[in-house]
Amino acid sequence: MSTSVNRQFVLASRPEGEPSPANFRLVEQPLPEVGDGQVLVRHHYLSLDPYMRGRMSEGKSYADPQPLDQVMIGGTVGEVVASKNDHFKVGDHVVGMGGWQEYLLVGADQRGVLQKVDTTHVPLSAYLGAVGMPGVTAWYGLVKVIAPKAGETVVVSAASGAVGGVVGQLAKVRGARAVGIAGGADKCRYVVEELGFDGCIDYKQHADARSLAKALREHCPDGIDGYFENVGGMVLDAVMLRANAFSRIAMCGMIAGYNGQPIPMAAPQLILVNRMRIEGFIVSEHMQVWPEALKELGTLVAQGKLKYRESIAQGLESAPEAFIGLLKGRNFGKQLVKLV
Ligand code: NDP
Repeated sequence: MSTSVNRQFVLASRPEGEPSPANFRLVEQPLPEVGDGQVLVRHHYLSLDPYMRGRMSEGKSYADPQPLDQVMIGGTVGEVVASKNDHFKVGDHVVGMGGWQEYLLVGADQRGVLQKVDTTHVPLSAYLGAVGMPGVTAWYGLVKVIAPKAGETVVVSAASGAVGGVVGQLAKVRGARAVGIAGGADKCRYVVEELGFDGCIDYKQHADARSLAKALREHCPDGIDGYFENVGGMVLDAVMLRANAFSRIAMCGMIAGYNGQPIPMAAPQLILVNRMRIEGFIVSEHMQVWPEALKELGTLVAQGKLKYRESIAQGLESAPEAFIGLLKGRNFGKQLVKLV
């Protein structure tokens, strides 16, 4: 091994509002010796995900906050570079929750934190995106909450992102119409031309929910049967105005409020009027669907039928800025940090 140092980012302080680079601290630790039963993984990619913003704050949530001065939580893929564990050999590709660091030492008792993955037909980085947590999130919300019938219309926000891009493509596989909402002309063009959605609306061209609802009327002439919510705020209000009777909303994320901004809902009475079902979910609480979801996602990616795009920041030191950019929509597709 060429290095004896493991670089890591720890949470230095909790943000007030938007996170800043000062909330993170880069530290160096000596690479530990690999003991009996242990595995050393060299990370190739770190995944940056919006949920990390929630973990940086204290307060009630579905998960405990990230402790201060400890390695930031995060999904990782990498390669086993040393092993004294019968279940892993040098060269194995693995996915895990390795955190914001270049190496991870895993003990035999923590074997479940690493999963071996096959990179013959699916690129390693995809296991952090379309064939990983974001893909399963899309699958769960679409298949188990929205459950579209052929011919129905499904709308998804943050449509060019890691989750949103998969939602629309899975809806199309099921014979539904897919309409995206995304920020900017480039993202919208990609969603239609590359991902094959039936339409995509640039919400930044609309000053208020009424104007966005008008655009939705043009793209969804038969109304909206399913909405996959990733952002909240004005976008949700606009969708509510075009929702059909008995429509379903999969409440996946509300990124517009992650820095503490209020995101009131303008017309909740429409839930009643339209007899809607709105269901929030956390993908890690539905482990029973992961094998089925990953099988479909992996097969579609291997066949070239499920497309995705990645924004790749170079080097661990770029992680804080890339993460801050993700919360502002600077990413275009799955945000990763390349560590090798
Ligand atoms: P994305 O790749 O979609 O990146 C986030 C995107 O959100 C940005 O690119 C930006 O796209 C959009 N965005 C940011 N701020 C705003 C805003 N104020 N208003 C509207 N859009 C905004 O991230 P992911 O695909 O990883 O995650 C998508 C959503 O899914 C997030 O809300 C995340 O928290 C949620 N999630 C939930 C899970 C669960 O278990 N419930 C699991 C995984 C993810 P644009 O430029 O188009 O505005």
